[in-house]
Amino acid sequence: MKRIGKSIILLIIVAIICVLAYSAIFPHIARGVLVEYSDFEEISDRVFVSPETSPGQRDSLLAYLDTAHARNVRFWGERVAYPKVVFCHSLELAEKYGYAGSPASFFMTPLFSFVMIVPEGLHPDIISHEMCHPELYQRAGWAKHTLAFPVWFFEGVAMQVDHRLFYSETAWQNMARNGRQAPLLTDIHKPEGFFSGDFQMNYATAKREVTRWLEVVGPEGLKRLIEETTVTGDFYQVYQAIEQKQR
Ligand SMILES: [Zn+2]
Repeated sequence: MKRIGKSIILLIIVAIICVLAYSAIFPHIARGVLVEYSDFEEISDRVFVSPETSPGQRDSLLAYLDTAHARNVRFWGERVAYPKVVFCHSLELAEKYGYAGSPASFFMTPLFSFVMIVPEGLHPDIISHEMCHPELYQRAGWAKHTLAFPVWFFEGVAMQVDHRLFYSETAWQNMARNGRQAPLLTDIHKPEGFFSGDFQMNYATAKREVTRWLEVVGPEGLKRLIEETTVTGDFYQVYQAIEQKQR
C-alpha cells in the first residue's frame, strides 16, 4: 500500500513537471488554455475577449461565430467541438497568444485546443474556416491530425466552409493557368511547403482537391477516411481507396 502511495505521488510530481515544462516551451498555449484566469472577459460560453475589445467587435465576433457554427453543422452534420475562443483587440497582445501573422489560428495539443482571433479575422469566412479545424481535430484526435493528415487535406476541409472568392475555382484557374502552375499535393503536404511560397495558390489548390474528392465520396467518405487513417499508415492509400470504391 505504501509503495502504491509513493508511486502515485511520483506520478503526480512527474505530471506537474511535464505541465510546467510544456508551459515554459509553449507559453502561448498555456495562456490560451488558461485564459479564464486572466483579465479576459467571457462574453458567451467559452468565448473570451480582451477587456479593451469594443462593443462593435464583441457583437461581430458573436454574430460570425453563429454563422460559423451554422456552416459547420451543415458541413459536418453536427457540432462536436467546443474549443475556447480567444479574441485579442491588438496584435501586440495577440503575440502572447501565439499570433504569427494569421487573422485567426487554431492551436492544438494532445489534450487542449483553442482558437485565437485578431480584429482582422472578424469575417464570417475566416471564422467559419477556423472553427472547422477543431471539428476535424475533435473527430480525428491530435495524433492523427498532426502525424497522418497532410496540411493540404485539413486546410482543404476547412476551405469547404470558407467562401472567399480569391480561393474559388475561378481564382484557381486564373492563378494556375489551367493547372500548369499549380503545386503538386506532395509539395504542400507538410507545413514548410504549404505555408511558404504562394499562400493563395496553396489554399485554392487544397480547396479544389478536397472539393473534387468530396463530390465523389460524400460525407460518408470523409467519415470513413477519419476512421480508417492510422497514425503510422499511408494516408494517400486510404484517401484513394475510398474514392475508388465510390467510382
Ligand atoms: Zn486553416
